[in-house]
Amino acid sequence: MKAVLLYEHGPAEKLQVVNDHPVPEPGPGQVRVRVRAAALNYLDVWVRNGWPGIKLDYPHIPGADASGTVDALGAGVNGWQVGDRVAIDPTVSCGECAYCQSGWQNRCVRFGILGEHRSGTNAETIIIPARNLLALPDHVSFAEAAAASLVFVTAWHSLITRGGIRPGESVLIVGAGGGVNTASLQIAKLAGCTVYVIGSSDEKLAQARALGADHLVRRDVEGGWSRAIYQMIGKRGVDVVVDNVGAATLNDSLRTAARGGRILTVGNTTGPKVEIDNRLMFGKHLSLIGSTMGPHQDYVTVMNLLFEGKLQAVIGATLPLDEVQEAHRLLESGDVFGKIVLEV
Ligand code: ZN
Repeated sequence: MKAVLLYEHGPAEKLQVVNDHPVPEPGPGQVRVRVRAAALNYLDVWVRNGWPGIKLDYPHIPGADASGTVDALGAGVNGWQVGDRVAIDPTVSCGECAYCQSGWQNRCVRFGILGEHRSGTNAETIIIPARNLLALPDHVSFAEAAAASLVFVTAWHSLITRGGIRPGESVLIVGAGGGVNTASLQIAKLAGCTVYVIGSSDEKLAQARALGADHLVRRDVEGGWSRAIYQMIGKRGVDVVVDNVGAATLNDSLRTAARGGRILTVGNTTGPKVEIDNRLMFGKHLSLIGSTMGPHQDYVTVMNLLFEGKLQAVIGATLPLDEVQEAHRLLESGDVFGKIVLEV
């Protein structure tokens, strides 16, 4: 089968497309899915580049997001038929530990993400536990399902399950173009919040406006965006800050939060380590709330909202699987608003 293989860490040129990778066989409880669309996440770039301690089984197939059709069933799998259209929950869990048993699959002691801790989606077929599948209605495209999966379950879990956002609250999203941020913006609007967005360009801010953002601020605004937001909202600060930028912005996020505010984080595009002023934390009664991915029930909930048309996958570019190197370069350029989808 056709697959994208990584033999060693490095730039996009390290991604090799081959046509003769062996087709994997599903084990008990597993399903083989014929992948029709895969979507990129910044995670794919980090895995490709590598970090201290990362361990991949080479050759490694990257990719967390995919959708497709059921291709073969392993022993003991019921409820699915070959040809069924499916979306794939990208969180891999053991299904047996105390966290899994209580519905927190994303806290599993053997937690993993497709394409990071195990073979990923950038291939013609993939093996996946049957419990990760969700039936995909005919009116939703493979590209939309793939583009939505990781970012929407991550944003839903962060904003709704962990962050507990409520109607009437103000939510500030630091960054406009990334997949999790565009998902967070839509979820905050759907929840009845007033949404502020910080963006690096007028173009990205205009696209955030089109998705429903109420107030837009340029990242490079004179005097700094934190002050600009603070003045816009009447020197009170915002109830919730969504900060997945990390080192470059976290202190401004703490400053921009209102008393009792929550700062939600699921990642750090500018680096993981940051010195924070603890006086802000206790003096303003702040909560810093982290999470990664989401439980399967959150995946089902948010994907059904997508299927109902209440949320939309934002797709910025679509390329064939053969052009995976170019897709990675596009993602790294930061010039694309929304998801990059690979057609398989
Ligand atoms: Zn588990």
